[in-house]
Amino acid sequence: MNPISRRDFVKAAGISASVVFLPASLRAQSAAGRVVVIGGGFGGGTTAKYLRLWSPGVQVSLVEPNATYHSCVMSNLYYPGSIPLDFLETPYDGLVRRGVDLVRDSVVAVDTGSHIVTLRGGRQLPYDKLVVAPGIDFVFPPGLEDPAAQARVPHAWKAIVEQAPRLRSMLRAMPDGGTFVLTVPPLPYRCPPGPYERTCMVASYLRRSKPRSRVIVLDANPDIVAKRDIFHHAFEVTHRGYVEYHPNAPVTSVDADTLTVSTPIGSFR
Ligand SMILES: Cc1cc2nc3c(=O)[nH]c(=O)nc-3n(C[C@H](O)[C@H](O)[C@H](O)COP(=O)(O)OP(=O)(O)OC[C@H]3O[C@@H](n4cnc5c(N)ncnc54)[C@H](O)[C@@H]3O)c2cc1C
Repeated sequence: MNPISRRDFVKAAGISASVVFLPASLRAQSAAGRVVVIGGGFGGGTTAKYLRLWSPGVQVSLVEPNATYHSCVMSNLYYPGSIPLDFLETPYDGLVRRGVDLVRDSVVAVDTGSHIVTLRGGRQLPYDKLVVAPGIDFVFPPGLEDPAAQARVPHAWKAIVEQAPRLRSMLRAMPDGGTFVLTVPPLPYRCPPGPYERTCMVASYLRRSKPRSRVIVLDANPDIVAKRDIFHHAFEVTHRGYVEYHPNAPVTSVDADTLTVSTPIGSFR
């Protein structure tokens, strides 16, 4: 028997692994077929990549309005200045090199009967299979229905490239002695540890740069919902005096002019 090199073995194992694990529907399509993926975030980008890897015969079109992707993951490090914004940026070149057809546009309609998506620019894309991965949208509380009001209270929970610099500028412009109010929605929401991580990052910035300021956390939930012990320790020990944590404090309304948040336990500004 001929000896087999490690490289040949890994190559052979990789090929057979993809064949074994490929869903039957994709294997059947590998000679042809067209998949349209809506949204080039973690979900859509990963799906597009593995469709091309596992089934190179399938034509994959990824519809995404932005030229590059800015990750929410790690974005909380941006607020104290630990990373620059471009640390969060990933271009789509890798997907294009794998044969993904990148379509810079937004989907405005899907006709599931005739299998056609319509883009904002007017173009129509036919599909055999459709992947819908446009991320999240918000349920804004009373007082934030108007886009002008929303613009005064940046969430930085998506659209990072536009939202995060705005939030950081507000933090930088805040006077020493000011308050940074952060609200946590009831579960389920995107990234349960995220608000508590952001609290710590903002608190670490305040300790260093505005030591008379503090973070007020208004949590709609009865307690911290992720890594409870770690964040209680962070709020009560590490950042003691800089974080004021309130459970059972769902937002009932926001006044974007006075930057005041109302809850059943009181109003916070
Ligand atoms: C502060 C923060 C920290 C986080 N930290 C972590 C972490 O450490 N680990 C972790 O696993 N997760 C983390 N997450 C969660 C993670 O970011 C999300 O789970 C992930 O981004 C979801 O990916 P997605 O592809 O579903 O959506 P998104 O990443 O939001 O991507 C959606 C894409 O769809 C596009 N799109 C929207 N509408 C349309 C349309 N009509 N047509 C075409 N394209 C459209 C958008 O432009 C966007 O590029 C964090 C989230 C936040 C907010």
